[in-house]
Amino acid sequence: MARRKLIAGNWKMNGHRAEAVALVDALLDKRRATPDFSAELLVCPPATMLDRIGQHLAGGPIELGAQDCHPEPSGAFTGDYSAAMVKDLGVSHIIVGHSERRSGHRESNELVRAKAEAALAQGLTAIVCVGESEPERQAGKAISVVCAQVSGSLPKGAAPDTLIIAYEPIWAVGSGRIPTQDEVVEMHSAIRRCLRNALGSHADGVRILYGGSVKPCNAHDFLELPDVDGCLVGGASLKADEFWAIALASQGLPA
Ligand code: PEP
Repeated sequence: MARRKLIAGNWKMNGHRAEAVALVDALLDKRRATPDFSAELLVCPPATMLDRIGQHLAGGPIELGAQDCHPEPSGAFTGDYSAAMVKDLGVSHIIVGHSERRSGHRESNELVRAKAEAALAQGLTAIVCVGESEPERQAGKAISVVCAQVSGSLPKGAAPDTLIIAYEPIWAVGSGRIPTQDEVVEMHSAIRRCLRNALGSHADGVRILYGGSVKPCNAHDFLELPDVDGCLVGGASLKADEFWAIALASQGLPA
């Protein structure tokens, strides 16, 4: 089944409005100057900038994502925001279960699943992050850990247009260290098998992204692999030239 590549930028807790607008303007210019570009592009700014960046991207070729949401639609949850609220700002995708939230905020599979279901309930797409720690990989448990995360975090009613999995080995996020191509192929095909068990024939349409120290110099090495349907990019998504070079790599084009 043909799956359109997705290059998604997770800005994390970085930036202020002026530089964020300059970043998306630069990306919009590059994207508009490349009409044959066929991948999907998504940026996920901090919540404080979703409104401003959403207005800037409205109706254009780059989509807007949030980095998290609360599982409930509204209520007494000080400091949180719901999927409905970010939808109101123009968001189409929500990242859930990023390793920085699973570890820093002790998010369980059950909570990640509830957040993903909240995104789906609003008609949005959930990007569910999974990934093993370094000790888990060294102990030979990477595949079992990740498959347990996939099965435990899958939202009910998931379908190819509402679910994306991002495989991000924790030890590769922000570290400059990357898995080998063989390790990525092995993990992505294990995730695909796990999705087939849960979703049957829908599984082949679900995109599986790789994330973890993706840079212009290594993006092609991931994007050429079977079952790698795009990348979730952290640090390199904060620089228009680097993010665009990764986007071009998804098309087999040089930067
Ligand atoms: C991320 O935050 O999802 C990520 C993959 O970060 P980096 O690309 O900086 O490793």
